[in-house]
Amino acid sequence: MKSPNRYPPGNDVESGVAPTGRAVSWIKTMLGSRLYPAAFQWITTATLLAIIVLALIGPNNSGQNFGMALTWTLWWPLLPISFLLAGRFWCAICPFAWVTDLVQRAVGVRLPGPRVLQRFGPWVIAALFLLITYVDETWRLSVDARRTGYLLLALLVAVIFFAAFFERRTFCRHVCFIGGFAANYSRAGILQLRADADRCRACHTRTCYNGTETAPGCPLFLLAPEVEDSATCHLCGNCVKVCPRDAISISFRAPTSELWNVRSPRLSDTVLAAAVMGIVLVEQASLLRLWIPLVEATGALLHVDPYVSYPLVYAVLLAAFTAAPLAGLALAGFVSKTVAGEHGRRNLLRNVVAFGDAIIPMALAGHVAHGAFFLLTRSRTVPFALFALAGRFPRAIQSAWMPSRAVFAAQMAVLALGAAASLYVSARIARRHAPRSALAAFLPHALLLLALLAANAYLVVTLLHEKG
Ligand code: SF4
Ligand code: SF4
Repeated sequence: MKSPNRYPPGNDVESGVAPTGRAVSWIKTMLGSRLYPAAFQWITTATLLAIIVLALIGPNNSGQNFGMALTWTLWWPLLPISFLLAGRFWCAICPFAWVTDLVQRAVGVRLPGPRVLQRFGPWVIAALFLLITYVDETWRLSVDARRTGYLLLALLVAVIFFAAFFERRTFCRHVCFIGGFAANYSRAGILQLRADADRCRACHTRTCYNGTETAPGCPLFLLAPEVEDSATCHLCGNCVKVCPRDAISISFRAPTSELWNVRSPRLSDTVLAAAVMGIVLVEQASLLRLWIPLVEATGALLHVDPYVSYPLVYAVLLAAFTAAPLAGLALAGFVSKTVAGEHGRRNLLRNVVAFGDAIIPMALAGHVAHGAFFLLTRSRTVPFALFALAGRFPRAIQSAWMPSRAVFAAQMAVLALGAAASLYVSARIARRHAPRSALAAFLPHALLLLALLAANAYLVVTLLHEKG
């Protein structure tokens, strides 16, 4: 299946990254199988359809609705862990990817994606991620089955629209809000796909991008030898299937190692990393009693009734929480570049962008620790939500897998690991960014990371006290 958007002809592949890490042949074999990823997609698509139906016609109580329990108690907390362990494997088996392929085979017009999305894609995704966080809180999405159902339907319509008009997976690449944290977390993950630069250099066909008469090329608009990070590749396996030189390898690597080896750090990644950290914090804070004085103080500041104008108050608080890690990063960058003897505004930006990636492991740990609370204290009831379909939800069931103290220990261990990884990444970046004054450049960023650890730990402790 040839795409109208073909890779420009030429003999040389300019860039190329030598595969690193330990190659894993069984994963490559799986990706090369004709049944991959379809076999997974059939299961996830059937599950999505069941979730939409259950959300729309099942009990509206989120704890007793099997679709809601699957979505918010199991899938959502497990998602960040999957990015750490398996890169963007979820995106390959996502039902929306299957729907996209189906619609394109039937009616696809295959126009190039809108230029604004191609140019500002990461910013659009960051904005949509903020919007969905806003809608979740002000519309009570995760506790209202009907609204979850409407959201999923709306997403399905958007996916069908993009698939009908635009080529490849324009929606997945430039619009899907999950890409906001999927890209960053996968960069910290342990799995990578790379092409052998030597084999690719002499390749004239660029089949991994263009596809063949019978098989599609990369749905994410990637030429395999130009894949330098794990942010965009969905591990869909197309390039493994069509490459005539067997140049693709899949390997395990040390977690977070990609973050300290970035050749050209991007401002959009930095902003996204800081924003995700802020969103993780606001999601936790909004569950706690401390949220009430915060809401009331913000209402007083805006001269509005905080409960009548909650959408406005929440918008301000969301903006403040999202901006706080970025402001901290800017301050740390300013001190770091000053004590390291760098001067000028350009150096401030260089410093901030270089060190921004160090926040990612801390944000991931905060996200996992937050989700672990719900996974470990609520998910035991998920199978029982099936009984509620027959109107028989058991009255008294044990919802937690382990005592509160063990849950707390697990959450703190996750946070400690995340902080250690962030500090290590920051130290490695400092050695690369400012070899002559690495310690001075590192210390301000280390203080910021410790402050983020303290904020996350405080919220975890408070959540356990109040809801454990
Ligand atoms: S088709 Fe294979 S050999 Fe050619 S550029 Fe792509 S990965 Fe490299
Ligand atoms: S590089 Fe493209 S074709 Fe290859 S696995 Fe990744 S997303 Fe699929």
